[in-house]
Amino acid sequence: MFTSVAGRSVIVTGGSKGIGRGIASVFAKAGANVLIVGRDQAGLDAAAGSLSGLGGSVSTHRVDVSDRAACDDMARVALQRNGGIDVLCANAGIFPAARLTDMTPEDLETVMATNFKGTVFAVQACLPALEASGHGRIVVTSSITGPMTGFPGWSHYGASKAAQLGFIRTAAIELAPKRITINAVLPGNIKTEGLDDLGQSYLDQMAASVPQGRLGAVEDIGNAALFFATDEAGYITGQSLVVDGGQTLPESLMALEAM
Ligand code: NAP
Repeated sequence: MFTSVAGRSVIVTGGSKGIGRGIASVFAKAGANVLIVGRDQAGLDAAAGSLSGLGGSVSTHRVDVSDRAACDDMARVALQRNGGIDVLCANAGIFPAARLTDMTPEDLETVMATNFKGTVFAVQACLPALEASGHGRIVVTSSITGPMTGFPGWSHYGASKAAQLGFIRTAAIELAPKRITINAVLPGNIKTEGLDDLGQSYLDQMAASVPQGRLGAVEDIGNAALFFATDEAGYITGQSLVVDGGQTLPESLMALEAM
């Protein structure tokens, strides 16, 4: 039985949709006070509405994580509203496709600004409050794409996700004396609203490449984040946990066909 996170203050960046909303729902069900942030207030309001009544509280604040000052403001709001910060889930991310032959400097900058710099800014902004909590936890949403696999059109995205892992390894050392842990979850293909538009046959094709035969649910990532946030996970830092239903395991298509 793990220690409860009930009553703890949790920030989820990118908590209005997809995986972030899944993480927020898992923490809210566990009784935490969750602040979800993103750029679009209407999306945040809709998410907060759907997450109300789960257990803990869910509130919103408009933040662009690529803006350091906005991240400082996010930390201030969490402190005022929820009395501190115990857990930061640095999850906000974008994945626009651009092949190397077409990728502009702006494409590269935009992806790195949100996915990599946004992670660093959110962490920096929350550090004083995480240290003050005495058991600070940071959980970064990385990806299998970049650290483990590749996909045409996503070289910049993959690099941003691998950069997050380089970041947490040194951050873990610097933050250890402050009793803050920092770890990453690496999702495989997770079923989010964004995938609905791609059609059932596309979804079926994606699911077929996963040994467990299904895409991940957003709560699968939330549960992994929740584990890293527990007191019992306090001796784990600088590590990555792949949550992909076995997607990265087959050495070839033949391995899947031989199942
Ligand atoms: P999503 O459904 O598009 O949600 C992205 C969230 O991030 C939204 O809440 C969005 O809200 C927010 N966001 C985007 N840019 C932001 C910014 N500059 N500042 C603040 N918030 C921002 O994406 P997702 O699929 O859930 O992905 C979430 C994370 O999981 C990303 O880091 C992604 O790399 C990672 N991931 C996803 C998958 C997958 O299969 N879905 C797999 C591996 C890794 P606003 O647009 O309102 O800002």
